[in-house]
Order: sequence, then C-alpha cells, then structure tokens
Amino acid sequence: MTDFSATHAKFHIPDGVIYLDGNSLGPLPVAAPERMQKMMTAEWGQSLIGGWNEHGWMAMPRSLGDRIGRLIGAEPGHTVLGDTLSIKVFQALAAAIRMRPDRRVILSDTGNFPSDLYIAEGLVDLLGDGYTLKTVAPEEVEGAIDDTVAAILITEVDYRTGRRHDMARLTRAAHDAGALAIWDLAHSAGALPVRVAAEGADFAVGCTYKYLNSGPGGPAFIYVAPRHAEQAKPALAGWLGHDRPFDFDLRYTPGAGIERMRVGTPPVLQMAALEAALDVWDGVDMDDLRARALELGDRFIAGVEAACPDLVLATPRDHASRGSQVSFRHPDAYAIMQALIARGVVGDFRAPDILRFGITPLYIGEAEIDAAGDTLAAILREGAWDDPAFRTRKAVT
Ligand SMILES: *Cc1c(COP(=O)(O)O)cnc(C)c1O
Repeated sequence: MTDFSATHAKFHIPDGVIYLDGNSLGPLPVAAPERMQKMMTAEWGQSLIGGWNEHGWMAMPRSLGDRIGRLIGAEPGHTVLGDTLSIKVFQALAAAIRMRPDRRVILSDTGNFPSDLYIAEGLVDLLGDGYTLKTVAPEEVEGAIDDTVAAILITEVDYRTGRRHDMARLTRAAHDAGALAIWDLAHSAGALPVRVAAEGADFAVGCTYKYLNSGPGGPAFIYVAPRHAEQAKPALAGWLGHDRPFDFDLRYTPGAGIERMRVGTPPVLQMAALEAALDVWDGVDMDDLRARALELGDRFIAGVEAACPDLVLATPRDHASRGSQVSFRHPDAYAIMQALIARGVVGDFRAPDILRFGITPLYIGEAEIDAAGDTLAAILREGAWDDPAFRTRKAVT
C-alpha cells in the first residue's frame, strides 16, 4: 500500500493553505530547491559546458521520460521530454496525419483544451490541401469516427468538468476505422492509471507541471508507440532530434525512434525540479492513488452537495467517467473562488461558471477535503463572495 502520509511530507504546502489546484500547477516538492541548487552551483556553476557530459544532462529527457513512461503504462524507451505540451500536440498530430496521407480529417471534441484545437487549426491552415478539423460534442466522438478520419486528437480528461473519455474504446474505434489515436494526458498523467501501451494509443502527450509537480514551465512529454517509432516524422525537425547532432550535418536524418521527437536544447534546470518531483512517485502505486482519489472526490461531492444547494455538480458521479478533479457550476463562480482563496482554500475558476478542485492524494487527505467543503459552505451561507474585491478578474485565472 502506498503511504500517503509519507508522500504528503514530501511537499511544501504553505501554512494555512489547503491546495486543491494541483491539477493546474503542482506544489513544490521539498527536495526540489536543493536539487535545483545543486544543479546550478555544483553542475552548471562548476562544470560549465562540461555539464552536458559530466552530469548527463543530455540523457535526462530520455531517462526522466521513462520514469513518466512508467506512470502512463508506456514501454521503456518510447517517451521523451521537451518543449511545452502545445508543441508536443503539434508534433504528434503532424506525425500522425502524415501516416494516413489519403485522409484529410482530424477529429476532436468541444471539451478539448483550446490550445490543442488552435494547434490543430493552425496545422490544417498551414497544410491546406483539403485538411479539416472536425470538432464534435464529447459524447459524439465515437459516432463521428469514419474512414475519412486520419487521426483523433482527444484529451482524456476534460479540464473543466473532469469528464473522462474511455481511452481503450475510442482507440479501438479509431483503429477499426483505420485512423490513429492521439491522447492528451494533461489531466491524466499522475492523476490516474494510464495504459498507453495496453490500450493501443498511437501517440500520447502531456505536461509535467500539473499532477506531476515539476513546477511552472516544466517540460512536456511525448510517447510514440513502438510500432510507429521508426516511421513517425517529427514535423519539428530540430538538431537534437537528428541521428548525429554533433556531426552538424546539413541534411536532416531522424534520430532512432523517440529520439527524433526531441527538438532543441532541453530545459536542464526545470528537469532538476522534475527529477525531485518524480522521486516522490517512486513509492506510489497508481491503483492505490486512484482508489484514494475517488474516495476523497466522493467525500468532497457529498459534503459540498449537503451544505451548498446552490452549487451544481459538473463532474460525472460515475467513477469510470471522471478524472481526478471535482467541479461545480455557479453563475458567480469567479467571485466565490476568489473568496475561497482569500480564506486559504486554493482551487480555480474556469470560464464561464466552473469552480474546479484538484483531488491529489499525494498531499490531500480527509482533513483538507472536509475543511475545504466547510469553508466553501460558510462563504456561500454568509454571502461573503458578494464583494467587489472578489469580482475583479485577474490576468491569470
Ligand atoms: C494544460 C493543458 C495544455 C497547456 O499546454 P502548454 O503548452 O503546456 O501551455 C494543453 N492541453 C491541455 C489538454 C491542457 O490541459
């Protein structure tokens, strides 16, 4: 059994704060500052450019990629870190549609994160030649998969409602129609067990700064199924994805397998923070994490529904159909969330009317769940949110 009191002690949560926003930006791992300090002073400071060889910086995107690979059920050697998620979406999508050259449709859904859709639209625009992005309601994805579809681009867990797609089922439907399946795991990696290999995902991408706790700006990851590893074209053919980057060859030759999905210089300092964050995951069993998250999520839903009749649950109750967040709707969700944050309960708001709470058992337990529910109930009962100070939108919500 995973010891969640031990994992809790590995995060710095400021005094007086109940942090229910780890689905947006994970908290600081206690070991991260020292790891980063060592990276800066002992490695960068002392070794200078020698650090690439002496400290193995260049190998980190692959070694840390494999540690994430374990959490998403990937075969070792097929996950690599780099860039941001938006860029990895571009790479996966561009590679996938080139593998189905006689098809012109990219299928996604209206529950997807805007960046994924913007990236797909931009790619369609750039390619011309009849390419289109077709976007349907989340529950209509399966029915919309036909033999015109080159690839489905689906985010497993909806960032607003926490609704979860059935990855195995949609992947199978895509394959039955001859299409490829690209999965965005932004709200899945570190949130629930994922089995990219067993469920046949062709490509998967995700970020590390949400449930994986690598810190703001932490690098993204990309997984390419082994059966495609030597065919996939990386689209962004950067020098570090070259087979022999230090030959400085003027002609591009893709690196072996997942290596080609590297683009440019990896973010070494951020990877130091990620390394410390991943150490926490070494003692975590994903099935334990999932069971605990569902239990805490149910507890939060029950408490809030009993005490806050004005809030409407936006997250599916059915365990299989939800990720690791709980969301409620209210017309004044923004102000309510600001009032909540002012009392030390940090969740977030998503337009137009969502109050969103990340359920992260690594550092959240019953006490935090109950206190958060009580504070939310008190704010609603007192009408404390109805204050001009809480209505002014900040730049980042
Ligand atoms: C968080 C998130 C992103 C953000 O992409 P970045 O390039 O890391 O800013 C993209 N897609 C989804 C589904 C997300 O949840």
